[in-house]
Amino acid sequence: MLQKSSQFMREANLIGGEWVQADSGATIDVINPATGLKIGTVPKSGKAETRRAIEAAAEAFASFCKTTALERSKMLRKLHDALMDNQDALAELLTLEQGKSLTEAKGEIASSAAYVLWFAEEARRAYGDVVPSPWGDRRILVTREPVGVIAAITPWNFPSSMLSRKIGPAIAAGCTAVVKPASQTPYSGLAWGALCEEVGIPKGVVNIVTGSAGEIGDEICANPLVKKITFTGSTEVGKLLIGKSASTVKKVSMELGGNAPFLVFDDADIDRAVEGAVVAKYRNSGQTCVCTNRFFVQAGVYDRFVEKLADASAKLKIGPGLDEGVQQGPLIDDKAVEKVEEFIADASEKGGKVVTGGKRHELGGTFFEPTVIAEAKPEMRFMKEEIFGPVAPVFRFETEEEAVALANDTEFGLACYFYSSDLGRVFRVTEGLKYGMVGVNEGLITTPEAPFGGLKESGLGREGGHQGIEDYLDTKYVCIGGLGL
Ligand code: ADP
Repeated sequence: MLQKSSQFMREANLIGGEWVQADSGATIDVINPATGLKIGTVPKSGKAETRRAIEAAAEAFASFCKTTALERSKMLRKLHDALMDNQDALAELLTLEQGKSLTEAKGEIASSAAYVLWFAEEARRAYGDVVPSPWGDRRILVTREPVGVIAAITPWNFPSSMLSRKIGPAIAAGCTAVVKPASQTPYSGLAWGALCEEVGIPKGVVNIVTGSAGEIGDEICANPLVKKITFTGSTEVGKLLIGKSASTVKKVSMELGGNAPFLVFDDADIDRAVEGAVVAKYRNSGQTCVCTNRFFVQAGVYDRFVEKLADASAKLKIGPGLDEGVQQGPLIDDKAVEKVEEFIADASEKGGKVVTGGKRHELGGTFFEPTVIAEAKPEMRFMKEEIFGPVAPVFRFETEEEAVALANDTEFGLACYFYSSDLGRVFRVTEGLKYGMVGVNEGLITTPEAPFGGLKESGLGREGGHQGIEDYLDTKYVCIGGLGL
């Protein structure tokens, strides 16, 4: 399997077009979560390598910023085609290091390609303004220019598509990039380097460094050549990066944690809600920031919903992601499994009822049974904390006001979902939910055409939509005087 995937597997940093090791020669092992076996290594780089990557990006920027929007659009189209032409090989590599099912991995590569295509189109629409001038002999232009070198730090749960939302708009805008993928899943990140090379994106436009998160992050934050940081990961690390980058006043966009509520009202189509619930809960084994963390179900349909969700959960096929028909792979590591067990123990102590699942899967390793917990209560830990695993706590509620208040009772505000067939309620609840994204009668809503992002401590900025390129562009006001008109 590795042989098939290895076409895009790189075990080196990409700096200024050269594949290089860490200065010290130190490496990090990359483990297949389905087997616990080592796949290979990547460089354990630190500040010095990061600095060189930033300098290479700055050097490349001098000429890349002069390319036309049409030229960059064409580069991105080629990148899109390369992703889709190699969808299977890239998906296998992704599954190998991340664990998700091959079907989901193929979906993720397709999603990466879709974002790249979207930004290929947006590249040509980074319009400025010609503003009516208050002076007869002067004219006012507002132009958009690339911000310069951007740095992207990405997590392990979507090691390919999280980069597409950052590399795509960066290239579209004319920026150059330094990328740090997560150490658990670096190969899908490094594969972007191989793909960029293959389609002829100029050397130094995309640089990739793997290694010590703290050292790489510190250099990125402190280096004045970096004009913008785009980060996807935990709220904890996001806050750290915002704080550290204050010293050089960088632009920041942050896709941080979520605590998605999923509301089911008495008037909902229950079968549709269960279908949406399975996707919104168990995608990537529950390891996404938009995965449902808390189900709130109205009393009249509570028992029916719990029973149907438990049935659907128990039917999911668990196994190594590369196996045929598997729907849920392993969790990323032991720590993730322990955390899930802690949530279940906490809920059980406080009166929660495990309806299905509740323990490690018989396959061993980090496989875990899809779990439904009925009689969830606000005092349980998952009311406030992100589970990031295949556990579905179901809370009971009586009134719409109560449901909206419970849903909003969190410092997070990324995605939320609700099911109702009452049009008035659809608008009331949509307007009442303090979230950046709302799925109404839908459990899977991410698409490049729409702005992805959160409110409150879930982050800053948007990825995708026409908004997705904004953070990669500076606005310049130009006043042209002395025209003698
Ligand atoms: P997760 O819990 O999903 O692993 P993290 O926020 O810990 O989320 O990790 C997301 C990304 O941030 C990863 O690439 C990780 O290596 C990186 N990271 C972790 N700590 C730091 C740090 N102190 N500075 C910069 N990046 C960091």
